[in-house]
Amino acid sequence: TALLNAKAGSAAADKAAVRLTSPDRVVYPGQGVTKAELVAYYAAVAERMLPYVANRPLSLLRCPQGRANYCFFQKHDTGGFPDAMKSLLITEKDGSKEDYFYIDDLAGLIAGTQMNVLEWHLWGARNKDVEKPERIIFDIDPDEGLGFADVRAAATDIRDVLNALGLKSYPLVSGGKGVHVIAPLTPRVAWPEVKAFCKGLAQRLADDQPDRYIATMSKAKRKGKLFIDYLRNERGSTAIAPWSSRSREGAPVAVPVSWDELQNVKSANQFTLAAAAECASEADPWTDYFEITQSITKPMLKAVTQA
Ligand code: ATP
Ligand code: MN
Ligand code: MN
Repeated sequence: TALLNAKAGSAAADKAAVRLTSPDRVVYPGQGVTKAELVAYYAAVAERMLPYVANRPLSLLRCPQGRANYCFFQKHDTGGFPDAMKSLLITEKDGSKEDYFYIDDLAGLIAGTQMNVLEWHLWGARNKDVEKPERIIFDIDPDEGLGFADVRAAATDIRDVLNALGLKSYPLVSGGKGVHVIAPLTPRVAWPEVKAFCKGLAQRLADDQPDRYIATMSKAKRKGKLFIDYLRNERGSTAIAPWSSRSREGAPVAVPVSWDELQNVKSANQFTLAAAAECASEADPWTDYFEITQSITKPMLKAVTQA
């Protein structure tokens, strides 16, 4: 589509003052999408995407030879990146300090694409207080053989449990196999309590419907079930950013949808770059995401952890 052409990508890079090298290099061989076209995609969705991505620690999936070749996760700024990729010093669990990447504008998204980032993964907290998460995520991971209808049902089950506790949530179609149910939080409660809440909620669902859900990592016990991966809710854990491209077959995107729209989604990877850019030009399905003030209270924690 017009939105995703190389010319638009190069113009966006010029405007953002990021130098693109090899703009014509193919990054998605299956689709023939070039680096400049991927830049055009990010320029098209930046306004929607940046509120979720800006000013928080990132983990980047880089594929210097394009998708399907060697890719690696990079958390730490080792230098040599364009200026629009900024760094933040974070104290690790062992007391050492490490530089993490963050961005705060379209130039950052373009700079990452210039550095062959195909996936943008986010911490659950923002730079200004990395100890207090401002969202929780239930990452629904279906076992082989389960269909997207099962994923949808799991997502709405999680939504209903969260609703009953007083927490509003939103579905992100991952671009892979599952859905992430995301609840924004006012950063008030620290990681350990937030993780305990998420673990308790996932375990509660697995206890209630043991034939459908599992809340432990064990691959062996996962047969025919949906794993409710609550482990995204730990200090330092990451999850795919809304609107990020994925390094998967078909060049899919992780797209935010409304609960109503989710019922019509056929698969977690149905949104191509062009389809996602189209979605970004329509009404925002995550209305109120940034206006909601909610956090995990002691009674909520008690409700999911007590027997
Ligand atoms: P799917 O819907 O196919 O499960 P997903 O994005 O949820 O897609 P998962 O494998 O469930 O993929 O992983 C969840 C998140 O865990 C990822 O989005 C990523 O942020 C993080 N993650 C997974 N593997 C790694 C890794 N090797 N290094 C860093 N982070 C990782
Ligand atoms: Mn997943
Ligand atoms: Mn997972």
